[in-house]
Amino acid sequence: MRKKILNYDELVREAGFAINSPTKGCIVILEYGYKIWEIIQRRLDQLIKDTGHSNVYFPLFIPESLMNKEKEHVEGFSPECAVVTHGGGVRLQESLIVRPTSETIMYETYRTLITSYRDLPLKYNQWANVVRWEKRPRPFLRTTEFLWQEGHTAHATQEESIEEVLRMLNIYKTFIEEYLAIPVIAGRKSDNEKFAGAVATYTVEALMRDKKALQCGTSHDLGQSFSKVFEIKFQDKENKQQYVWQTSWGVSTRLIGAAIMAHRDDKGVILPPLIAPYQVVVIPINNLVNAEYIVRIEKELKDKGLRYVIDNRDESAGSKFNKWELKGVPIRLEIGDRECERQTISATSRLGKKVNTPINEFFNSIDSLLLNFQNELFVRATEFQKTNTFDIDQFTEFKNLFGQGKSSGFVKAYFCGSKECEDTIKSETFGVTSRCIPLDETNGEGSCICCKKDVNGKKTIFAKAY
Ligand SMILES: [Zn+2]
Repeated sequence: MRKKILNYDELVREAGFAINSPTKGCIVILEYGYKIWEIIQRRLDQLIKDTGHSNVYFPLFIPESLMNKEKEHVEGFSPECAVVTHGGGVRLQESLIVRPTSETIMYETYRTLITSYRDLPLKYNQWANVVRWEKRPRPFLRTTEFLWQEGHTAHATQEESIEEVLRMLNIYKTFIEEYLAIPVIAGRKSDNEKFAGAVATYTVEALMRDKKALQCGTSHDLGQSFSKVFEIKFQDKENKQQYVWQTSWGVSTRLIGAAIMAHRDDKGVILPPLIAPYQVVVIPINNLVNAEYIVRIEKELKDKGLRYVIDNRDESAGSKFNKWELKGVPIRLEIGDRECERQTISATSRLGKKVNTPINEFFNSIDSLLLNFQNELFVRATEFQKTNTFDIDQFTEFKNLFGQGKSSGFVKAYFCGSKECEDTIKSETFGVTSRCIPLDETNGEGSCICCKKDVNGKKTIFAKAY
């Protein structure tokens, strides 16, 4: 019997990352999914602290009047806000917004924390949950409540704040490429796609296995738009009052979805060893396998500091293989009587490689097996991205590529950046949007893919996106 290929939502559920919750639009992140989040958190938190930021915590509820202060910001977010109108059994005098993002609540306080140039730069980060009402939820990609980190900094000069925006974007890029083994394109969003209230939004965009793009993280240059509204001023060295320059940046549990979708195959998920909840699964082929040998293997795994699981459940070896293949564990050890007698290990990698070696030899090489696995996944994803990126200068060709609403990867094209052209492109390509103008793209000359106006500068990346 041929097995059915699971779609993304089914895969998330069947592999045990998350399930639907009794609350509409919200998921239950199960232990297999949450372990990945913990690994992401631990590493990113370190990177954030290493670059001079401290963690803080601000309230979940934002007084409506604060949310309303920055005009573009409130317009951008109000359609997806959850609003608390009652508390303690009575109607509140002022409604409270459940934070969709924390600029407003944080910056009202930044005004009181910052008075002098000596208080700058102020570099805070917060690990929190946020709520954005979602009409079409997808597990990890968009849910009404999700987990994230949001960094919010204030600087004395524009130069310093732009440096911060790009520094954090680069940390995200490096982290996602190294840990999630997903190549990303770092670039600037079009005005149409930027964060509500930002001067400019920078993003890291990745291509998923189904040839759709996924925005994996953003870093915003807020300029002085919030500091002027929230009156965040400092006295400079010449005793003059100045407004601070600000940034905000974040990544969320969406990264779990990215890891699932960027590396999957027909059998299920393929997890990069650096974020896999279990890097190794040990499967005793039958119940009669020498227990002492399994104990020895476990000790080796523990001594190596690896994350592992021993699947001793009363189930056939075949169905265990399928299950751990679906869940994407990088290396599977199959231990039967033969391995035990000969003191060997039979190992199969989730990318299909098999080895059978003496136990000592195996454990001497396991670190490099995992490292090679991690690298191979990255190379595989990079090649996939390359073969699915198209330089295009004719709109007809662009439209054909996405005909009937299919997803076809990244398109690189000259684009004038106007809202009109962005809207035309979107409506004539079944929803393709501009993803970003890559930072490392070289400048050139051409004409807008849509209106044919001269464009002097970099090409823009387009894709169907999640
Ligand atoms: Zn145009």
